[in-house]
Amino acid sequence: MSYSQTDAIRAGYNPHENGGTMALPIYQSTAYAFEDADHAADLFALRRLGHIYTRLHNPTTTVVENRFAKLEDGAMAIFTASGSSAIFYSIINLCEAGDNFIAAKNLYGGSMTLFAHTLKRFGMQVRWFSDPSEIEGLIDDKTKAIFFESLSNPGIELQDFDAITAIAKKHKIITIVDNTVATPALFKPFEHGIDVAVYSASKYINGQGTALGGVIAERQGLNELIKDNPRYPHFNEPDESYHGLVYTSLPLPAFCLRVRLALLRDIGATPAPLNSWLFAQGLETLALRIKAHSDNALKIAEFLESHPKVKNVKYPGLKSHKHYALAQKYLTDGLASGLISFEVENFEKAKSIIGATKLFTPVVNIGDSKSLITHPASTTHSQMNEAELAAAGISQSLVRISVGLENVNDLIEDLKLALNS
Ligand SMILES: *Cc1c(COP(=O)(O)O)cnc(C)c1O
Repeated sequence: MSYSQTDAIRAGYNPHENGGTMALPIYQSTAYAFEDADHAADLFALRRLGHIYTRLHNPTTTVVENRFAKLEDGAMAIFTASGSSAIFYSIINLCEAGDNFIAAKNLYGGSMTLFAHTLKRFGMQVRWFSDPSEIEGLIDDKTKAIFFESLSNPGIELQDFDAITAIAKKHKIITIVDNTVATPALFKPFEHGIDVAVYSASKYINGQGTALGGVIAERQGLNELIKDNPRYPHFNEPDESYHGLVYTSLPLPAFCLRVRLALLRDIGATPAPLNSWLFAQGLETLALRIKAHSDNALKIAEFLESHPKVKNVKYPGLKSHKHYALAQKYLTDGLASGLISFEVENFEKAKSIIGATKLFTPVVNIGDSKSLITHPASTTHSQMNEAELAAAGISQSLVRISVGLENVNDLIEDLKLALNS
């Protein structure tokens, strides 16, 4: 099914159940009154579903979660306090000490350090791949997940998603995609057989750089893959921490259920109600904005490609990009979102451009209505060594821009002046 702009605005909320309030209310409450002791006991035992405490769920957040699940044609979505916590949860929901997971080499810097260093201290091993053909050789019976980005940040590359999911299906392994840059408006992971999607909602979903958040969503029918699958004992054996609950025994999406009942309960990276409300505002215009970001970005990429001081431009909407065909195949109308990276002569020139733009503001964020510029080698990816940088496709002279929604001619003029300065 195609992305529904109607659902983006209407799904999951009925004003008549909220005293006629047309705008989604912000339920600024930590906890919720039970009707009586039986009601409370039923909620805790999952005999009835309802709100207990905001670490687990909140009525404002529930609306945006249900809306998002509908936009993805997914079974369930959970919002978290940040994209990083969503990614952390998506891995530890499947892995424990002694397990491994397979991940693409060209991930967001924070995911690279989480996987390579922090999760290592918890005894989980990441095995990197750059081409899907390498994946099969990395799988063993302790492999719990395959993780990649749909449009990678900052390298702006795609993957052959069909090739990855074919291998995952064969070995009954869960695939997880970070769909932050493409968003469901351009790429619907579940239509391509991917099992779980994670997001930083701080970027395009929010759209204005006003709140941190993340999302974890699962496809319909994922329970069939998890049930009785020896890779995933935690979903098939009684959970001692939840009075012997077997997640796959319930007619509910098991992956997200366990994120909520075990991980949000114990670790609590829950979004603030105000932030969930901001994400609901963002979702209303997400598809319109992504189209405008993509249109602006394509014009700017074409300008950069023709500029003598630019060595090369990476934007998958350009015919010259190595993944142009993949972008045409997988992304809605071939639109490629708002990130562009390009290389100039050297480190000094890259740094001087960042100081010379007036509209492109030096900020380590993306997906804002305001245009932003960064030098990954000295900022977002400065914790990585030369080899890691090279593997992630980042050079000292690489500049990344997040194209905003300003008038595109003004943006081109801004880059022209900076390049010539
Ligand atoms: C920003 C980002 C993250 C991390 O999300 P936060 O909300 O900043 O924690 C993860 N993945 C990608 C692709 C990102 O751009």
